[in-house]
Amino acid sequence: MAHGERRLPSQPVTTRAPLHVVWAYRRTGKFAFHVLTGALETDPRTAHVPVDFANGVRDVTAAIRRALDRAARVLVGWSFYSPDAAALTAEQHAVRAAVADPRILHVAGGVHPTAEPEATLRSGFDLVATGEGEQLVRELVHALQHGQDPRTVSGIAWLDGERLRRSPRSDRIALDDFPPFGPAHGRFGPIEITRGCIYACRFCQTPYFAGAAFRHRSVADVRHWVRYLVGRGFRDFRFLSPTALSYGASGPEPDLGAVEAMLAGVRAETGPSRKLWFGTFPSEVRPEHVTHQTLALLKKWVSNRTLIVGGQSGSDAVLAANERGHDAASVERAVALCLEHGFVPHVDFLFGLPGEGPADVEATLRTMDRLVARGARVHGHTFLPLPGTPWRKAAPGALTDAVRARLHQLASRGHLYGQWQQQEATARELAARRPGRQDREA
Ligand code: SF4
Repeated sequence: MAHGERRLPSQPVTTRAPLHVVWAYRRTGKFAFHVLTGALETDPRTAHVPVDFANGVRDVTAAIRRALDRAARVLVGWSFYSPDAAALTAEQHAVRAAVADPRILHVAGGVHPTAEPEATLRSGFDLVATGEGEQLVRELVHALQHGQDPRTVSGIAWLDGERLRRSPRSDRIALDDFPPFGPAHGRFGPIEITRGCIYACRFCQTPYFAGAAFRHRSVADVRHWVRYLVGRGFRDFRFLSPTALSYGASGPEPDLGAVEAMLAGVRAETGPSRKLWFGTFPSEVRPEHVTHQTLALLKKWVSNRTLIVGGQSGSDAVLAANERGHDAASVERAVALCLEHGFVPHVDFLFGLPGEGPADVEATLRTMDRLVARGARVHGHTFLPLPGTPWRKAAPGALTDAVRARLHQLASRGHLYGQWQQQEATARELAARRPGRQDREA
């Protein structure tokens, strides 16, 4: 892609803003855009750059057209997870067909483009922004405003003829250095308290995208943003973490002092009547972290009386093969403890994991039946061979008719919920679109 050719505007820059940003804004990726917007708002070099949020082909096209009337260049940002890659790529093609102009730059970022930069570029994006976006977006916008080559910014990937080229990797950020959302644009979301994950579950993109160590937002910074939200009239407070009870910890052992300091600090800001959601979406808990002590602590501070527990399988062999770091008995123990302390556990299970045979599936179904009989709810998923993970080349998760029938039975009684059916189709699609597959099949 010859970016150098499209860099300079044909119109005199004095009559136009140097740059306008349009986010191709989708429900599934919206919090990522809120974070990027917050990063732009809080850098004096980029705070004044106009940002539009446009949802769907028609709105993105209209926003680009308006931006072209006002600005010398338009950065169109796309961010997506692997299951949405096909749909978002199709949207980008439709937008490009509707409005083609050398002043437009389509940049893809997020988990999927980071894992598959070459395939993403070949699918039609001009640049891929790899890794964490906060500092990168500031540098990219700053470079474009000044007519500089965006490929000089760290973390950028592009195609040079047929070859994938990359600028140096960007550094990992500290959460305290960036707001958790875009307050000046009125774009809010959960407060991210922990990024990265020390666990290396082989099906999960988080440690491969965000790093294999925990990085925590400080209690003072969490409180700052909670106080801000209280001032804006918010009544519900949610937190984003890969494993909620790991807040403040650096290893597998929870640091309950740190968790309590954070929750107590948040409560001091919210007062007793506002709602504090923790240990439920989007901050689930690992089963071995559920103990009398942790549940007593949660009961003291949080508003939710459901907890989302990652179980994944009822088979120890499958859990070990996936490096989950806990066994099936710890899931049953966690459920019993939750119920004893007055929490309703919702337990995640994942079907079709690599190495799972009929006996493992049966063990999972029986575990689900036992947990449901005690009073838990179960959340069903089908394994997706996600790019960037060790299982990226594994066979897509598939269910037999007999398993589907058992799951439908549980669902019809209200015990099971989840996207396991749609995910079977998504898993097949991901496997079919794997880079190199066409070459191998040719
Ligand atoms: S599944 Fe959860 S615990 Fe495992 S690596 Fe992913 S975020 Fe970490």
